[in-house]
Amino acid sequence: MKNPLFEHLFKKHENSEKTFLSFVDGTSLTYGEYIRMIYEFSSSFRAMGLKPGDRISLKIEKSQYFLVVYGACIHSGLIFLPINENYTTKELLYFLKDSESNLLITTRQEVIQLEGKITNTDLFIETLEKDGTGSLPALAKCADCLTYPEVRNLKDIAALLYTSGTTGRPKAAMITHENLISNSKTLTEMWAFSGHDKLIHALPIYHTHGLFVATNVILLSSASMFFLSKFDRDIIIKLIPKSTTIMGVPTYYARLLESPKLTRKLTQDMRLIVSGSAPLTKEMSDKFFERTGKRILERYGMTETNMISSNPYDGKRKAGSVGYPLPGINLRICNPETGLCLPPGKVGEIELKGKNVFSGYWRMQKETQEAFRLDGFFRTGDLGKFDNQGYVEIVGRLKDLIITGGLNVYPKEVENVLNRFVGIEESAVIGLPHDDFGESILAVIISEKGNKPCEKDVIQYLEDNLAKYKCPKAYVSETSLPRNNLGKVLKNLLREKYRNYFTNLKKS
Ligand code: AMP
Repeated sequence: MKNPLFEHLFKKHENSEKTFLSFVDGTSLTYGEYIRMIYEFSSSFRAMGLKPGDRISLKIEKSQYFLVVYGACIHSGLIFLPINENYTTKELLYFLKDSESNLLITTRQEVIQLEGKITNTDLFIETLEKDGTGSLPALAKCADCLTYPEVRNLKDIAALLYTSGTTGRPKAAMITHENLISNSKTLTEMWAFSGHDKLIHALPIYHTHGLFVATNVILLSSASMFFLSKFDRDIIIKLIPKSTTIMGVPTYYARLLESPKLTRKLTQDMRLIVSGSAPLTKEMSDKFFERTGKRILERYGMTETNMISSNPYDGKRKAGSVGYPLPGINLRICNPETGLCLPPGKVGEIELKGKNVFSGYWRMQKETQEAFRLDGFFRTGDLGKFDNQGYVEIVGRLKDLIITGGLNVYPKEVENVLNRFVGIEESAVIGLPHDDFGESILAVIISEKGNKPCEKDVIQYLEDNLAKYKCPKAYVSETSLPRNNLGKVLKNLLREKYRNYFTNLKKS
């Protein structure tokens, strides 16, 4: 095969008149039109002299042109590097330098910000606006249209994705053609996608969830999607009756539940509602089920590995669990220090091996080595366990694990208990430096509107439900938890904010 990923996802749509994307304003884009634009953009890349393996950074807002650049990179064998449009110019400069990008595609506005700051004189810069204007489309119209794809093999890098890590130097995960082919195939089959599906796509597309999970599954199954620039509850409520499926993060479902319009009747034709990228609480899953009669299917994955596990499509979906490892993925739970495998029920680090796993961090040999065991298993840094039916449950990030007085406390276990207390909307439990215990536990509480619980009652309730060493030593109230765009709680920011909480207490 000449270019495995292009053949797998794009080529077959060449002359199709089927709708690929529908937009909120009532307009749409067919698959055939999409592939034609890919050929035009790809031709302009080749006219610039770009060669397979060169890096193309893309920093624009979500639009169909973002997906055109993605397809054009695959077609011309270039490495696609999508960048969150909210990143600052300083961050962008880091990514351009670290990846040694050959071309940056961005807006005119960003180009003005960059003036005089780029040190790499070989870097091409082209503009592309949300409405499809700019210097890149102008070039594409002039270039001779080349439809043949560049030759690639399965192990070649298709994309570089900077991980959303919140500490240290951002690392770019090298995602291969094989990673994307195997994962899209598995998910399409597992979740029974077909050409009849219509997906509500409100996710960002610089991230693996919106780009490689949602978009690749749609391309592979020849389905179509309502392509929203961002999450908008009222628009989504209107689109639900015209759709068969939605993929989202837990905060989407929390916000949909706030609307009384979310009912059984509204969602009756939705066959699949998927959640991932952050933990969906059991309470939220149950609430959604009570309201709509639909059990959200929770899955688990990460930038480096694509999707890892999923609750079953047919069969029992367990609230609070991320389901079974996907077919072809070898998943084990290990003691993080010794690397020894642990039996069901025991919490340890989630490790895995499979065609879905990335080939390493771009030009970071040491970090790559540290991320893999000698037998090739990737260390996710997530803590989890198998239950006795083989479902995986995530209990948090290894770096969020609290060790207090020598005992391990998994924040999620405490948060799960706290979140069940009437009046607590959500909570985040963190470990902070403490002179005697090493670390001590602080609970950050978000109360339900107008229903602030009494602290004494909360303390009593926790002591009734958890071993004493797991109970927080202090409680603070906030109005909301800090989150990134995908709804992940940024515990590092909370730890930073309250860093001296216990040490100051002692002094005072
Ligand atoms: P990212 O690389 O940005 O996709 O983040 C991956 C991380 O998100 C994983 O390592 C997990 O910590 C977390 N994550 C993804 N899906 C889930 C889920 N369903 N439940 C809990 N955490 C999740």
